[in-house]
Amino acid sequence: MTFSTAAEFDQAYKSANRAFAAGTTKNKEWRRRQLKRAWWMIEDNKKRICDALYTDLHKHYQEAYTGDCGTVQADALRTIAKLDEWTKDIKPERSDPLNFLGGATIRKEPLGVTLIIGAWNFPITLLLQPMLAAIAAGCAMILKPSDVASATQDVLMDIIPKYMDRDAIRCVSAGAQEMSYILEHRFDHIFYTGSPNVAKIIHAAAAKHLTPVTLELGGQCPAIVAESANLDLTAKHIAVTKFMNAGQICLNVNHVLVAPGLRDRLVAELIKYFDTFAGGKAQNPDYYTHIINERNFDRLDTLLKQTSGKIVYGGERNRETRYFAPTIVTGVKAGDSLLSEELFGPILPIIDADFDTAISTTRAGEHPLAIYAFTSKAADKSRILNETQSGGVTFNDCGLHIAARDVPFGGVGNSGTGYYHGPYGILTFSHLRTYINALPWWMEGVITARYPPYSVEKAHK
Ligand code: NAD
Repeated sequence: MTFSTAAEFDQAYKSANRAFAAGTTKNKEWRRRQLKRAWWMIEDNKKRICDALYTDLHKHYQEAYTGDCGTVQADALRTIAKLDEWTKDIKPERSDPLNFLGGATIRKEPLGVTLIIGAWNFPITLLLQPMLAAIAAGCAMILKPSDVASATQDVLMDIIPKYMDRDAIRCVSAGAQEMSYILEHRFDHIFYTGSPNVAKIIHAAAAKHLTPVTLELGGQCPAIVAESANLDLTAKHIAVTKFMNAGQICLNVNHVLVAPGLRDRLVAELIKYFDTFAGGKAQNPDYYTHIINERNFDRLDTLLKQTSGKIVYGGERNRETRYFAPTIVTGVKAGDSLLSEELFGPILPIIDADFDTAISTTRAGEHPLAIYAFTSKAADKSRILNETQSGGVTFNDCGLHIAARDVPFGGVGNSGTGYYHGPYGILTFSHLRTYINALPWWMEGVITARYPPYSVEKAHK
């Protein structure tokens, strides 16, 4: 794999800074044109992109198209349609005389040159969705795809300069070593998707320049299954998030906390759905995604070998092809290897826990990116919302909140800082700059408290 050289990066950095300073990216027509070109970039190259995703992850076209290409194209179209509305100035409440008479206005101004760093599990979406938001906000940018999904990175390096503005939107390839050089530079914003560990390196580098960051991270998202849950649908929704992308999803269910009386029935339902999704009993279908690389395969392999739980389904795996079957492990207790880190794979640990214990266990850990609660009781939902913290919550399904239109998506604490999607993406790449005019001359007689000489009487006037 070849990475961009320091000289190539320097050239890209200068070009993006020059384009921003020239005002190119602030132009609304430029933004609209780039959003349209992004749509065409995917449209013209979707076969190539999906082939690359198959090479990297053994991802089937259905998953690759919907998870990567379709998401970006839909986002581009919506952003084009809403560009004027989402970027327009905000007028604060006019009941305040200062706002009313001074015409206080909040402008959404682009932050400048942003560095966007993507992850490998959805290597198109996680790089290009923030790109769309940065374009819509009027920023120039340097895009850094994940080097781990190397075939997809190569496609991105090839197509981005062919479709996007070659001065303002630059794409560089870099591994950890090259990143340390890139991060010495001053950016106006850094948007990072990836693990909390690397996020600390990014955050520390950004702090040297007081650069604001958006960190879209992961975590151990729990599924809490209460007594009142519909077990058939619960199992279907949990199983599909573990099956899709072989569980290599930030919003994936990391572990299940289930009321002890329901555990065996839930496991039976989960097995039913894993078998159905595989197209037959414990098959290895050609459309099932594999583990991205040997490092991650070995990590999952070791965690599974070390568990003191019982493998009741799956467990088959092949290091050569990096196939790792959906695997259910029951009897998992606190301190188990499977709970030691974010799994980011197709292993599903099942923990016996009543609703109170599920809440206290979840509270005891880092704030996850999502919490999934399966219950038909409003009181249970209120307790989840009031007694826990997480990036988002989906009730009686998994991950739906990421797909909801025009709502913010992001983590909290260890699962992230900031948000994007829809109008919130534009806010992320913008500075909210207030301006106001001097008040009319006749107000001078009214606001005497502003001027010395001071007196107690004037202070209360
Ligand atoms: P990662 O942190 O290893 O890599 C992410 C990016 O950082 C890549 O572009 C990589 O090249 C770069 N990088 C790696 N080492 C670096 C270093 N030392 N210095 C600077 N940059 C470096 O993450 P990953 O393995 O690509 O993705 C998995 C993680 O990302 C999981 O934790 C997952 O939950 C999380 N994730 C979060 C979201 C979200 O939207 N919140 C989406 C996908 C993945």
